[in-house]
Amino acid sequence: MRIILFGAPGVGKGTQAKILSSKLNIPHISTGDILRQAVADKTELGLKAQEIMNRGDLVPDDIMIGIIKERLSKPDCKNGFILDGFPRTEVQAQALDNLLKELNADNIAVINITANDEEIVRRINRRRACKVCGKIFTLDEIEGKDKCPNCGAENSFYLRDDDREEVIKKRLRIFHKSTEPVLNYYKGKRKVITVNGIGSVEEVNEKILQALNSD
Ligand code: AMP
Repeated sequence: MRIILFGAPGVGKGTQAKILSSKLNIPHISTGDILRQAVADKTELGLKAQEIMNRGDLVPDDIMIGIIKERLSKPDCKNGFILDGFPRTEVQAQALDNLLKELNADNIAVINITANDEEIVRRINRRRACKVCGKIFTLDEIEGKDKCPNCGAENSFYLRDDDREEVIKKRLRIFHKSTEPVLNYYKGKRKVITVNGIGSVEEVNEKILQALNSD
């Protein structure tokens, strides 16, 4: 099964993708995680992306398309994958369509998770990242833990620069301007299933699974 999890930053795409990935046994591909790992590893990509991400801006399309091409061509994507954070522009959506055709993998479900901006700001305030591996966790996931569940680093949690309130507001503005129109691109081309992202993690997950099963 191939899935695009679409929605504003902080709407819960990452949390839902992790659960779906383990339930459906397909990889979770988060372009934000790939970039944060590159920043942590201080690679050429990481050095380029860091400042752009800290400002809350989008990394250029050609870089992101290159990353996705490489990732989707890996053998673990053969039976499906969950995209989280890609596509974020119409140019990326078009490039993804071309790539899926090349890979003979043209059927993909678009799940659009929604929440209002106030709820999103509230949720992002409750997120922390690991400064060693860059993975994101909710405060609930790391409560009482002093080691990162992903890489084992000690006392490494911090509030991401781009999760500071003024940057979140900018990211939401960019979402409404550049990313939301991707839904219009998909309308008429692919089935877009909208799921209300307000509710418990389990409730939202159940709604997504139901939507996927009835697809
Ligand atoms: P995320 O963790 O998905 O919110 O992504 C964090 C940041 O990485 C974004 O604010 C962008 O700066 C960058 N980023 C991630 N995915 C993309 C993408 N598909 N296109 C452009 N920039 C991206």
